[in-house]
Amino acid sequence: MKIGVLALQGAVAEHIRMIEQAGGEGVQVKRPEQLKELQGIIVPGGESTTIGKLMRTYGFIESLKEFYSQGNPVFGTCAGLIVIAKEIAAQPEAHLELMDIKVARNAFGRQRESFETDLEVKHIADDVRAVFIRAPLIEEVGKGVEVLSVYNGQIVAAQQGRLLATSFHPELTDDCRIHGYFLDMVKKAHN
Ligand code: GLN
Repeated sequence: MKIGVLALQGAVAEHIRMIEQAGGEGVQVKRPEQLKELQGIIVPGGESTTIGKLMRTYGFIESLKEFYSQGNPVFGTCAGLIVIAKEIAAQPEAHLELMDIKVARNAFGRQRESFETDLEVKHIADDVRAVFIRAPLIEEVGKGVEVLSVYNGQIVAAQQGRLLATSFHPELTDDCRIHGYFLDMVKKAHN
């Protein structure tokens, strides 16, 4: 399975490494034409406003919506979660508007700007290593969205069919089980 990582800004190489550790082939995606050779894509962490602007500039908004509607899975981590959300709190415009969630940016407050913890993530494990960096959280989920992980009463991972989202960075650890789970979603979507 060829999995793309949107390579406009943010943590790209780390995701490629994890995809390969999980048994897939990772591809850096810089142009929409590359999507046709892929079976799934990861939108990485970074800064969501910057990623959103670059996506508009390079024609990724329409092409990624089409990529998803053709049956391909999409995984957003941290800023990537913000990019795939239908609604962003205190912001009039969202980006890809794919996943039926409302997210709050930088939601953990200054004193907890970044931290690491082990999380219970449904369908995966009860000790998934997670790195949070100025992380968003999921404030509301729609009917078709399954909550996969909660930290301190707040939703930090969720799935809606072919869409997967985490508030944290699974790629900044040695634990590739979330990438393995995404790879399984991609296999299922294409068999
Ligand atoms: N705070 C960033 C944003 O709002 C996300 C941070 C991250 O991806 N680590 O876009």
